[in-house]
Amino acid sequence: MRELQATQVIFDTVVRQTGAARVRQVRIAFGELCELDPKAVRRQWAALGKATPLERAQLQFRLIRAEAQCMACFKKYHPVNGEIHCPHCGSFGAKILTGEEFHVEHIETDE
Ligand SMILES: [Zn+2]
Repeated sequence: MRELQATQVIFDTVVRQTGAARVRQVRIAFGELCELDPKAVRRQWAALGKATPLERAQLQFRLIRAEAQCMACFKKYHPVNGEIHCPHCGSFGAKILTGEEFHVEHIETDE
């Protein structure tokens, strides 16, 4: 259950940053490759937020497109279906540049 852990981290981050303030909206950077199910994250979020100042906080995901850089030819490409396989030279070695994000990007509170 990776969603539970990941959502707990997000939740704790928001609580740390907002204290007792009522939170309206939380925007999360959500990488295409992070392999979390947004629906499961929302479910966990609702469960964690019950009877806290985060109860009404809406979760918003900003999808981040994946980009990899080939370690053989150094060209950048978009991994299709999360597969690391260079379309230029066929190499499987690559560095993930973006797409694994899962973190709080913006918080809106009632003030
Ligand atoms: Zn390549």
